[in-house]
Amino acid sequence: MSVFTHFAAGALAGSLIPNPFAAPFIGLGSHLLLDMIPHKDFEDYRIEIVLWVVAMIALFAGGAYSWAIVLAGLFAVLPDLENLLQKTGTIRRDQMIFPGHRKGFIRHGRETGVWSVVLQVVFTTVVIVWMIRRNG
Ligand SMILES: [Zn+2]
Repeated sequence: MSVFTHFAAGALAGSLIPNPFAAPFIGLGSHLLLDMIPHKDFEDYRIEIVLWVVAMIALFAGGAYSWAIVLAGLFAVLPDLENLLQKTGTIRRDQMIFPGHRKGFIRHGRETGVWSVVLQVVFTTVVIVWMIRRNG
């Protein structure tokens, strides 16, 4: 899934389960679950990063943040750091360690059409707007 989608899902989970100690586990767990869903990512990872930053700024500017939201959101994004390192040629695909990124028991969802990218943008927008209106 795209970075901004992972962030929105993690932040949403942190909002619904407002426990900052559980937030890192909730964030990582949400990443694992979302990556199993068939999806498509942007060809250019820089677009994903820009949209992630926009989503974070919107959340902060809208006053919808807490420790649980921020931690769950950031830990939901964290595993894709190795995706970034792989895409930039810093590490090889077989050096990735997060379940779902590497070959193993948990499979990464198959690649779908462009509609998935549109759906992810809509999902992220709805989540961010809902969280701002809910004030966290
Ligand atoms: Zn991932």
